Amino acid sequence: MPVTRVSPQDQAEARAQKWVRPSVRALTAYHVPPAEGRIKLDAMENPYQWPAEMEQEWLQCLHGAPLNRYPDPTANAVRERLRASLSLAPDQLVMLGNGSDELIQIIQLSLAGPGRVVMAPVPTFVMYQMIARFVGAEFVGVPLRDDFTLDRDRMLAAIHRHDPSVIFIAYPNNPSGNLFERPLLQEIIEAADGLVVIDEAYHVFAGESFIADIGHYANVVVMRTLSKMGLAGLRLGYLAGAAAWLQQFDKVRLPYNINVLTQISAVFALERSALFEEQAARIVAERERVASALTERGFTVFPSATNFLLFRAAGSAARTYEHLLDHKVLIKNLHQADTPLADCLRVTVGTPEENDAFLAGLRQF
Ligand SMILES: *Cc1c(COP(=O)(O)O)cnc(C)c1O
Repeated sequence: MPVTRVSPQDQAEARAQKWVRPSVRALTAYHVPPAEGRIKLDAMENPYQWPAEMEQEWLQCLHGAPLNRYPDPTANAVRERLRASLSLAPDQLVMLGNGSDELIQIIQLSLAGPGRVVMAPVPTFVMYQMIARFVGAEFVGVPLRDDFTLDRDRMLAAIHRHDPSVIFIAYPNNPSGNLFERPLLQEIIEAADGLVVIDEAYHVFAGESFIADIGHYANVVVMRTLSKMGLAGLRLGYLAGAAAWLQQFDKVRLPYNINVLTQISAVFALERSALFEEQAARIVAERERVASALTERGFTVFPSATNFLLFRAAGSAARTYEHLLDHKVLIKNLHQADTPLADCLRVTVGTPEENDAFLAGLRQF
């Protein structure tokens, strides 16, 4: 009698299906398209590298880094440098994360969970919603208007109805690129009882900030990252706010979440912030040039306070995206039918040469 043997892979599949939580099984993994051999304008990275001399100095700093030892669990040198540059009050703290993605997770592990609501205007940064699903919280996305401005009445009504434990506001917003109106955000902060996280990932390009407001409001913290400024590979995000909130979050943070190499490199880079500001100014100038060129070609370009542009290719987003891929240029297709993102594409501003390649690819379309 032939015995049908179930392969070890199939057994593992069955066991995983049985034991992995249904909410996790229902997720689709965050997809990053391959970029090899392509001009990468899809992930809001800074295209510039460091001057050779600065790179040598950095390698000197890393030389002899004690990789056999655990890092400083509080990453004090990094936090002190950030504290000073943010001019925080004595009762305000800085907390670090392995990217701001980790901080979003720490905040939600502390505040969200079953029976609690996480809220954000949508479309916005997808991690707020993904992490809400991991922690078993309900995510309520409040639609922005067609021009991606806040819908005041809808937002205030949703706050009253759901009493969210935390509201995430990307300021400026990703993927739309715009800054929401400050008076409307103040109304939202005052209407909310739970925490409002102002995510300033694009601060170096936007200038505008709520950092001075963390002392005025009992429920505001500000989150930033070094990623978009030029250090995406380092994975360092930070949160500034009242000690009352941050001391609680710190209990959830895994010890040693910021590794030795990141700690040394971050201090080195923060001591040279003028370089990153100068690069940001160049990127902003390029952004305006690319925006004008897109407008001239008949695309609708949305206002941006970031290092990317959202634009609409009426009826041809997918074809435009594929055509650019054929020309080795990778951008992001955000098209979702019957939403404000219909026919929308997002391009990160690169070097002048990269932007020219992008515009040349479009011209041939
Ligand atoms: C890119 C981005 C982040 C994530 O930054 P990391 O520090 O690289 O994890 C957070 N918020 C917004 C709005 C972003 O666009």
